[in-house]
Amino acid sequence: MHGPMSDERQALLEEAAELLRWEAEIGGIGVPPIELQPRPASAPLETQKLVPEPPPPEVTPVGPSAPQNAGDRAQQLRVLQEEAASCTKCRLHEGRTESVFARGNPNTDLVFVGEGPGYHEDQQGLPFVGKAGALLDRMVKAMGYPRDGVYICNVVKCRPPQNRTPKPDEAGACKPYLVGQLEAVRPKVIVALGRCAAENLGQVEPGGRGWRGRWGEYEGIPVMSTYHPAFLLRSPQFKRPVWDDLKNVLRKLGRPIP
Ligand code: URA
Ligand code: SF4
Repeated sequence: MHGPMSDERQALLEEAAELLRWEAEIGGIGVPPIELQPRPASAPLETQKLVPEPPPPEVTPVGPSAPQNAGDRAQQLRVLQEEAASCTKCRLHEGRTESVFARGNPNTDLVFVGEGPGYHEDQQGLPFVGKAGALLDRMVKAMGYPRDGVYICNVVKCRPPQNRTPKPDEAGACKPYLVGQLEAVRPKVIVALGRCAAENLGQVEPGGRGWRGRWGEYEGIPVMSTYHPAFLLRSPQFKRPVWDDLKNVLRKLGRPIP
């Protein structure tokens, strides 16, 4: 077959295969069996939607400094990103190649917050572009988003030496950038990836236990804390609880559960 239809079919097949690989990887059981039923004559194939459309965007109540539209939002983020690019507010600036602000779409309902840049992120100036990033991309795709359909950032914008966890004073110095990002994007849900993000978004006391899989709140925005993809690379047996957390996120967003 040739032409646009076969391209589309090919893309759908690849997507389905990707979902199955993720399902297999997280320890799932694959897709449920399909009930074969005759198609009602009144519903022609072309008009049947495979996946329900996501609900229309809600009008979010905005605070005095929250942006009113995509243009203001982009502008507010540009200013913050420029500031971070030349920031020397903490010692982490000393070792950076590039500060790492964010990637993805700021006009989204879902934000992921990680810990801080690693080697590849520092080199490229983009978050989550190494192995952990590849796994995060698969999680995002399995949730039904395009790779760049969500907004991804970190607690600190400069790489800590030897990829150590950011110290409280470093996270504190960098906090205004994260606060500004979350205020500008104002997603419907935030996912905190790992303990560092969960602690810095006020979801758990330092050293506190039982933080994973719990709903909390940041400035009125629901926050789900889950394990970091870098941890999942070392401990793949925890992919299943993480997938459960992400499905809860989809439920909260009113999106279809794969
Ligand atoms: N780990 C993180 O927490 N953030 C990145 O950007 C990359 C790896
Ligand atoms: Fe500034 Fe944050 Fe980089 Fe520290 S980590 S120098 S606060 S941008």
